[in-house]
Amino acid sequence: MNTLKKLRFETLQIHAGLQPDVESGARGVSITPTAAYRFRSCDHAARLFELSEAGNIYTRLQNPTTSAYEERIAALYGAVGALAVSSGMSAILITVLSLASEGDNIVVSPFLYGGTYNQFRISLRKLGIDCRIAPTERAEDFEPLIDTRTKAIYVESMGNPTCAVPDLEALGLLARKYDLPYIVDNTFGAAGYLCNPFDWGANIVVDSATKWINGHGTAMGGVIVDGGNYNWANGKFPQIDGPSEGYHGLNLHEAFGSSAFIIKCRVDGLRDLGCCPSPFDSYLMMLGLETLTLRVRHEVESTRKLAEYCRNHPKVERVSYVGFEDHPSYTNAQKYYKFGSSAVFTIELKGTLESTVRFVESLHLAANMTMIGDSISVVTHPASTTHKQLSEADLVAAGVTPTLLRISLGLEHVDDLIDDFEQAFAQIK
Ligand SMILES: *Cc1c(COP(=O)(O)O)cnc(C)c1O
Repeated sequence: MNTLKKLRFETLQIHAGLQPDVESGARGVSITPTAAYRFRSCDHAARLFELSEAGNIYTRLQNPTTSAYEERIAALYGAVGALAVSSGMSAILITVLSLASEGDNIVVSPFLYGGTYNQFRISLRKLGIDCRIAPTERAEDFEPLIDTRTKAIYVESMGNPTCAVPDLEALGLLARKYDLPYIVDNTFGAAGYLCNPFDWGANIVVDSATKWINGHGTAMGGVIVDGGNYNWANGKFPQIDGPSEGYHGLNLHEAFGSSAFIIKCRVDGLRDLGCCPSPFDSYLMMLGLETLTLRVRHEVESTRKLAEYCRNHPKVERVSYVGFEDHPSYTNAQKYYKFGSSAVFTIELKGTLESTVRFVESLHLAANMTMIGDSISVVTHPASTTHKQLSEADLVAAGVTPTLLRISLGLEHVDDLIDDFEQAFAQIK
């Protein structure tokens, strides 16, 4: 794999993790549909279980198809290791639980994916982990919330749904100042193609593979990626640099060095929480990755055209597109995102909740779903879906008005999408 490191993203997305089958000559990864693996001997089994030898035990912990996929993800990010799990939400949960326990806290951005916001605000708090939401995404507003029990700083490289891009480098410097792991949800960064948070000081990346990695809306998945660049020997994380409860006192940091965190996520996180991916889904993710750059480039290009069309439409009140200079995150997006944009933007229609619903229901091509990064274009109405559970005050704080629509471009011809929008606009007053 080391020879692959120098290759470009486009080449890695096809070649990294591939070991062509010697016997059949098959060009791709094989799907290995097995739950368990036969040990060569009881001694072999014992070595695997005590982690003194690497190898397959049980698919909850690893699987050859999934390992190939993990190798590809790590190569794309230039990271020491990756762990594939069954959803983006479980990637986030395993990451946080590997770092923080009861009485600890993490300091997080106010612009978070709705599911993440609820996991932090409700489920993690029930476990005694305090998620301190900074009032803004600026480093100086994170800093006062940090104390001796803080275990991580957490942000999204592009926030959902407003496309807020934080100053990733400034937050990285803050994390370094307090010697804290810096976690970035890089779902919008498309596996590191549009944005690679490790270039800006991130230690750990989480990514919802359901979105651009899969790219076709065919499977759920998440990945945790370990930059191997955090000093676990600073006394803050005895569960990583100290005797391990689950493995007879084994010190994961001493045994696995810079890969200690991702090993911890696998051997404790996946073992105990159980959210492993199916080998078939890992195959779908690898297949999706082969065309990631082609898809994302097309989608980003279409996004600009559709956003421009909407900006000039008389029935549109406002367009919020990070590639336009009037977006508050324009400058950060230019710095941190290739092409200065992703494939998502929002519009607010003139009119009412009812006319907005009518517009959405009149679209033929763009699907009414809660999804991004799909090959089918998606129009989501947050007020009736993703943000339905929020109170009116929280809706205002999140910038979700009744006529707001989130649009995630797919792979159709953009002129057909514009025609589709045109006929749907004609249906509303
Ligand atoms: C979708 C999403 C998640 C959650 O991922 P799932 O695969 O749906 O569990 C987390 N973060 C962001 C930014 C997302 O868009």
